Amino acid sequence: MQMDLPHRKIHIAVTIKPKLCAAGVQLRDQVDTWFPDRSRKSPEGWLGDSRHSARKSDHNPDKDGWCRALDLNTLFESTDSLAPYLADQIRIAAKSDPRISYVIYNGRICSKILNWKWRKYKGINPHKRHIHISFTRLGDKDSKPFDIPLIGGKI
Ligand SMILES: [Zn+2]
Repeated sequence: MQMDLPHRKIHIAVTIKPKLCAAGVQLRDQVDTWFPDRSRKSPEGWLGDSRHSARKSDHNPDKDGWCRALDLNTLFESTDSLAPYLADQIRIAAKSDPRISYVIYNGRICSKILNWKWRKYKGINPHKRHIHISFTRLGDKDSKPFDIPLIGGKI
């Protein structure tokens, strides 16, 4: 005799706490160390809001909770005059640091495409008041200091 067993679905809700990748924590720590009075107000942060989660963004946690993007408010001092220099030094560091995936600042983006040359960024938000840094999986647990002159690296 064959019995039909009721189909049972067991739903287990697992909540994984989002976490900024180690490379992101390290980069932010270096900026904090060298610009202790910098503004950490919006647009600053790493965890995507509801607007982000509706689309693909490195600010959204992956299935293990890793967030691989950091937004730095460009007011490193009382003005944002150092921001273009820091953005450019992050770009240069990325050429030899595979933890960095891409950088967006002031209407431009750079990545391995075009060998880290700045190119026009066509997204809606031109990133004039923050620098966006996306990281690769290699930065999930790798917190070695970034060699970036403005934030403690070799000149
Ligand atoms: Zn961002």
